[in-house]
Amino acid sequence: MTGRAHLAVVGAGPAGLAGALSAAARGVRVTLIDAAGQAGGQFYRQPAPALGARRPEALHHQWRTWRRLADGLARHIAAGRITHLTDHHVWCVQRESDSFTVHALLGPAQEQGVTVRADAVLLATGGYERVLPFPGWTLPGVVTAGGAQAMLKGALVLPGRTAVVAGTGPLLLPVATGLAAAGTRVAALVESAGPTAVLRRAPDLAAHPAKLAEGAWYAALLLRHGVRTLSRHTVLEAHGTDRLTAVTVAALDRTGRIRPGSGRRISCDTLAVGHGMLPHTDLAEALGCTLAGTDVRVDGEQRTDVRGVWAAGETTGIGGAALALAEGHIAGRSAAARLHGTVPDPRAWAAAARVRTRLRAFFAALETVYAPPAGWAERIPDDTVVCRCEEVTAGPVRTAARSLGATDLRTAKLLTRAGMGWCQGRMCAPAVAALTGCPLTAGRRPFARPVPLGVLANLPDDDTAEQ
Ligand SMILES: Cc1cc2nc3c(=O)[nH]c(=O)nc-3n(C[C@H](O)[C@H](O)[C@H](O)COP(=O)(O)OP(=O)(O)OC[C@H]3O[C@@H](n4cnc5c(N)ncnc54)[C@H](O)[C@@H]3O)c2cc1C
Repeated sequence: MTGRAHLAVVGAGPAGLAGALSAAARGVRVTLIDAAGQAGGQFYRQPAPALGARRPEALHHQWRTWRRLADGLARHIAAGRITHLTDHHVWCVQRESDSFTVHALLGPAQEQGVTVRADAVLLATGGYERVLPFPGWTLPGVVTAGGAQAMLKGALVLPGRTAVVAGTGPLLLPVATGLAAAGTRVAALVESAGPTAVLRRAPDLAAHPAKLAEGAWYAALLLRHGVRTLSRHTVLEAHGTDRLTAVTVAALDRTGRIRPGSGRRISCDTLAVGHGMLPHTDLAEALGCTLAGTDVRVDGEQRTDVRGVWAAGETTGIGGAALALAEGHIAGRSAAARLHGTVPDPRAWAAAARVRTRLRAFFAALETVYAPPAGWAERIPDDTVVCRCEEVTAGPVRTAARSLGATDLRTAKLLTRAGMGWCQGRMCAPAVAALTGCPLTAGRRPFARPVPLGVLANLPDDDTAEQ
């Protein structure tokens, strides 16, 4: 290796930032690449500077941690140890014999290709929300829970005047309380998990007093803002012609089935709906990294099984910002040591490893509590759109499995076009898997996003890559 070792970090959320800072502090040259205009990722999403937010911390948790990360990043950038490429969307990472070429598309038009050459790569690309279809889910006014949060934190915009926040998972709490604090009337928080599911995992959850305190804090906020909570309930339908005017929710029994006659209609102009998250794994898959279920598999050092590729944060499993920070820290330290040709001593990151162990156990317990309600796919009527890119409804997807014999997502896609559009199945894959009974397997896409042919045609020769 000639010159200073160079690590490319994809993703400037908590995991990527922690990884970049740890590696840069240990003498590694880092290029931090992110599709967003500012560092922070989902958890520390910042208002656009042009908005001149006077109190951006008002919408945030753990502001001090963010300030520490942001100050550290600024210091390393000023010292020339980190180069931060904003608005760069990475569409592929290629491995050559002992180096990597990171291909990105630049800017809002995404038509300019940029190439970065590095000795190693840390993938910290986070996760995305699981979208489950139901009648009316494509109406204007229906947004994902994280989408509503992103509008609030990033654009200081309210998605509407009266909202229902629904689905399942801990993300619903900051969304409902954040919207209420910012002035939206939150007519109901509809959570499909019930108290018994929580009680069943009580010993695992009780081992995390800080998390329980966070939960209690959100409960107090819901009370203060007068948000009605309907637990063990689900959204059946969103109503409206041009845009959302109301939703029907219904109670679930202990097995997760709808209680007959329990449906009730709630007027609202916004439905923020989320059913948990899935890891972003496209870049890792294209590199040949092994997945464990839907998560990139890593060892104790956060190394994938492809030499020179580390992964941290929600790309290795959904677990929140604190876990992402711990994993990023370990990955950055490990990558720095390995790039310097030494074997790292795990004792150097013992505290972060303890946090990682505790939080992985906590989120594994949460996952069982906050699973989508049983039978949700059976309730999707045949005429409900499932793949909105290609406008494929549930009926043909069911037919692909029942009559035509599709037993995997790829065959279902070829038979119906579900997953063949712009998002390449990221949104509809969970629904298509549930409707067909096919396992929810990785998509094995060569590119993480569509790429203009002109960019492919103009790819630089090996020796002309930037950096
Ligand atoms: C929409 C949304 C809103 C959320 N809001 C909250 C919240 O309010 N509170 C909460 O506790 N948790 C929230 N979460 C959960 C949150 O993802 C995690 O807690 C935490 O941010 C995970 O950190 P991370 O570093 O693993 O990933 P992230 O914070 O998601 O960071 C990943 C980064 O990678 C970048 N990236 C991804 N793919 C590419 C690519 N191909 N090229 C270039 N850059 C790429 C993204 O732009 C992003 O900046 C939200 C999640 C989502 C999806």
